[in-house]
Amino acid sequence: MRTQQDKLDDARHPLLGSEHATVEANRCINCYDAPCINACPTQINIPQFIARISSGDTLGAAQSIFASNILGHSCATVCPVEVLCEGACVYNKLEDPPIRIGDLQKYATDYFYTNRKENLPTLTIAPKQAVHVCAIGGGPASLSFAAYIVLNGGQATVYEAAPQAGGLNTYGVAPYKLTYDQSLDEIALIKELGVRIQTNTRIGENVTPQELLAEYDAVFLGTGLAEDRYPIPVNGTAGVTGALPFIAQIKQRGEKATQGITNALVIGGGNTALDVVQELALCKVPQIAMAYRRGLADMSGYAHEFKYARSYGVRFYEHHTPVRINQDKGQAQGVVFNTPNGETTLATDLVVFATGQERHPLQQLFPDLALNAQNCVVVDEKQKTNLAKIYAGGDCANGGKEVVNAVAEGRQAAFNVLQSMNLDIYYGRFSN
Ligand code: SF4
Repeated sequence: MRTQQDKLDDARHPLLGSEHATVEANRCINCYDAPCINACPTQINIPQFIARISSGDTLGAAQSIFASNILGHSCATVCPVEVLCEGACVYNKLEDPPIRIGDLQKYATDYFYTNRKENLPTLTIAPKQAVHVCAIGGGPASLSFAAYIVLNGGQATVYEAAPQAGGLNTYGVAPYKLTYDQSLDEIALIKELGVRIQTNTRIGENVTPQELLAEYDAVFLGTGLAEDRYPIPVNGTAGVTGALPFIAQIKQRGEKATQGITNALVIGGGNTALDVVQELALCKVPQIAMAYRRGLADMSGYAHEFKYARSYGVRFYEHHTPVRINQDKGQAQGVVFNTPNGETTLATDLVVFATGQERHPLQQLFPDLALNAQNCVVVDEKQKTNLAKIYAGGDCANGGKEVVNAVAEGRQAAFNVLQSMNLDIYYGRFSN
């Protein structure tokens, strides 16, 4: 039976076979200044890994990707390549299709993960160095931070409150982009490299922040964002949910999570809202609508994702600000909106709010930690906070960007921990 991932692969990211991958790789002209590299937050050496595919060294291509981005497999499908590497490819200037960098990256990393059971070598750990760090939160930023400390010969422990590490990759990225199992595969690789991951552990309860500061050379905050934010009271109404628990349900239960839903309404105008409407469409929910408080031009969701959403027949209502939920015996029946033409009601049996997330109260752990007006951790260009030994990266510091930004920030923090201790950096630099 074909899975949601199969459908996506067909529709958006057709998996390249080896011949097709070689032909596509041979199109790359190995630009001297490679603008694609600069457009990638993790600065993967794109012409190098493409050249390795072209010469038949697919494993070497994967190793080249992981040297700069240990989560290169998930980034291959989650990254908005249209506005990053592929958007910068010189072929765009020639009005030819850009090199399919994302698909080639997926081809190489798929090869790696498919063949890993045969003990394919991954990356060689650098000579041992005396550095021991920890990360709070087990999402992409923390995993990257810990992985690049270990790859550079140090030791790292990740503390995660949930039963599984991976953060949004495991629980929050729509499964049509990345499945639960694909995220766990990446975590298995990171553990294999030597990163210690302690799940079901909440800092402040099982372990105190003071204990971490005393035990480790550096502490990385990679806690991501907290629960969904609701712009109106929802009062436990059945049929009303936030985007994160909805995606987590779909990730673990597939189409069963939408059984009986005939008319779904997603509120929000960002990429999370667009992910939810596409998941609903893949789950064959008959009627799907999206309502946004401002105009189409103000949406923060990517234009290409909106186009995909519309291609599934999703209705879009702009300038609709939610006012209240209509319910019958505790079950949502519709949402009342303020519009330029007065109040209007959209009927629905499932309301999904994708209207932002709360922040974790990190000052409860570290009272003197500097936060900005949006309650994000203030960091400098080295991902260093205002407190000694404490670094931060990913959504808790940047307010909510792409997975690839979190990976880059975690890696940057790892470099700066090594540098601050006068240790060597072997991995993660462009020259790898
Ligand atoms: Fe190859 Fe395009 Fe990058 Fe140039 S910009 S190196 S053609 S992928």
